[in-house]
Amino acid sequence: MNTPQGKSFLSTPIEYLKGVGPERAEVLKKEIQVFTFGDLLKLYPYRYIDRTKFYAIKDIDNTQTYIQLKGKIRNFKEIGQGRGRRLTATFYDNDGEIELVWFQGIKWILKGININDTYILYGKPTLFNSKLNFTHPDLELFQAERETSAGTFRALYNTSDKMKTKSLDSKGISKLMMVLLAQLKPEHILENLPQDIRSKYKLLDRYAAVKNIHLPSNLSLQEQAVKRMKFEELFLIQLNLLQLKIIRKREKGIVLEKVDDKFDKFYKEALPFELTNAQKRVLKEIRRDTLSGTQMNRLLQGDVGSGKTIVALLTMLMAIDNKYQAAMMAPTEILAQQHYSSLKELCEKIGIKVALLTGSSKSKERKDILSALLRGELDILIGTHALLEDNVQFKNLGIVVIDEQHRFGVAQRAKLWKKNNTPPHILVMTATPIPRTLAMTLYGDLDVSVLDELPPGRKAIKTVQRNETQRIGVFDFMREEIAKGRQIYIVYPLIEESEKLDLIDLQNGFESISRAFPLPAFNVSILHGKMKGENKDFEMTRFVKGETQIMVATTVIEVGVNVPNASVMIIENAERFGLSQLHQLRGRVGRGAEQSYCILMTHHKLTHEGRTRIKTMCDTNDGFKIAEVDLQLRGPGNMEGTQQSGNIDLKIANLATDGPIIEEARKAAIALLEEDATLLNPEHYNLKFYLQSQQSNSNFWRNIS
Ligand code: ADP
Ligand code: MG
Repeated sequence: MNTPQGKSFLSTPIEYLKGVGPERAEVLKKEIQVFTFGDLLKLYPYRYIDRTKFYAIKDIDNTQTYIQLKGKIRNFKEIGQGRGRRLTATFYDNDGEIELVWFQGIKWILKGININDTYILYGKPTLFNSKLNFTHPDLELFQAERETSAGTFRALYNTSDKMKTKSLDSKGISKLMMVLLAQLKPEHILENLPQDIRSKYKLLDRYAAVKNIHLPSNLSLQEQAVKRMKFEELFLIQLNLLQLKIIRKREKGIVLEKVDDKFDKFYKEALPFELTNAQKRVLKEIRRDTLSGTQMNRLLQGDVGSGKTIVALLTMLMAIDNKYQAAMMAPTEILAQQHYSSLKELCEKIGIKVALLTGSSKSKERKDILSALLRGELDILIGTHALLEDNVQFKNLGIVVIDEQHRFGVAQRAKLWKKNNTPPHILVMTATPIPRTLAMTLYGDLDVSVLDELPPGRKAIKTVQRNETQRIGVFDFMREEIAKGRQIYIVYPLIEESEKLDLIDLQNGFESISRAFPLPAFNVSILHGKMKGENKDFEMTRFVKGETQIMVATTVIEVGVNVPNASVMIIENAERFGLSQLHQLRGRVGRGAEQSYCILMTHHKLTHEGRTRIKTMCDTNDGFKIAEVDLQLRGPGNMEGTQQSGNIDLKIANLATDGPIIEEARKAAIALLEEDATLLNPEHYNLKFYLQSQQSNSNFWRNIS
């Protein structure tokens, strides 16, 4: 779609396609943003129906999606009354039979179907009461002499109700597609992938792929066409990300030559424990980056409790030893506060000045901090979004650490760069493990470090599921743990859509806990986002100091909170939480040497997905495994960590299921850029041209970088 010829054909307004006209054009533009011939070609089918093959009933299992059978129908039975009323029948071929079920149109079926005729059945076998059946299958009279739908391989398109009123259902779109494809010539769709990549990865040429994706002649060509277009999409993303990375590597970076003073002193005198090997390895990687003369852009992934904070501090000390300042940003006030109090203590031991700046800093205090910062009298500034404000100016900012980055928009990250003439080094830390494939697509431009080892002596957290009838047992268990001197979190869900009800739930929960665990023997705290900052601090501090044994809270305690003495995490209505959030919450316990527990309180009845989430939590503590399941369950669009990374608007590839293609595409992009980083080789001319034409009409890269 990248030659002058191709461009003019593909940019032909859609109303000029035979069969469209002004009214349908209007609907196509409004409903699915199809303005041109080219746009229509990019409307990819969501599924194909394979009517080239007949299955034998005995070969059916519940792994198939839509299949086609040939046979007769007998044994009609009407069962039940009212809403439960249904019609069943038996469909049979030479050596098998299977049940058919209808809930609607019963009269019509009874009248229309003849038990002596042979039918072609098309549908999806589903499991009901551990027996397979077809519900509301497509049935078509088999007529050997006449052509039927059988024998074709058809694409299905998503359409809207509005489109259907203009007969633009899936069949309608197919018809338009056929008209368009009949006019489409190879010169309209020029190749954009280099020949050697196409032969290495056995990819169909672009013209053939476009044709076969819409009008496949057979299953194999359809599969090849889809693979080719997915590869292309993912390859172009990788190419862009990797080019971005190359450009960044050319950017001059601050060289942090010495680590002799504070770093050494801290390491020798103030480090409260021996670093894990993973922590040492990551620090070496950071050291290498900050010596290289180019700007560091590194993502540090480390499961909850893997010890990222100390890595952050040591990284900041590298800047300070070279007379630079450092900043650390956290997504919430509570977390910023926590970082501040734990780092302050460590820093004071080696004479380093730390300050905290958040939205609720008083104006006098803020003024003092800002002027000290500008004069270079502050070494480390910890804070929230407040750090991004324009009046927060450093004398010479060398390193920025961003904790739990998925809460920060990309634009905000970019703002940080401008806080120094030479852009500061950036270390982004996340405890949300991102599956490899997703990381490659979202953060392909960053270097990645992984803390894949927990500090020694940690016991795996024991996770169990309980329901309301077992509440008394849970209370008994809580009393036992408190008697041992431990503390307990109880977390309630709170989402915007049901905020009022959720807050009432929380309040009720707090009251019933306070009744079951009365003063003076017990102290219960409550914490939620709607509380005033000072009240939050008060409650949090009481809990951190061990003055309260139970903390009833919403997910405000989710990120980063560190109270090693807390050993029990109880999550109410656990089925309402996403997997990554459950994992984050569970990570609040198991931080000390004691055995810790996570109790997932759920309803009796769970959806299939809910059950999978709970079971996954009970089965594993491994954040990466959990992230994989999460990706499978929710799809990449909803993964925590992706929402704010820019909308990756994939037209055909699927990050959850196309892992192998992503790997191939990345490999191909790396190899290509190693050989020809600026795409000057004539063989890469088409690709370069294509990229340029794409960049001009896409804001994707602005979002993701
Ligand atoms: P996270 O990666 O979740 O931010 P933290 O940095 O909060 O983890 O560390 C979790 C706990 O482990 C803290 O109490 C911290 O002091 C402790 N810790 C970190 N590194 C080590 C280590 N190498 N040995 C022992 N304890 C450690
Ligand atoms: Mg942390």
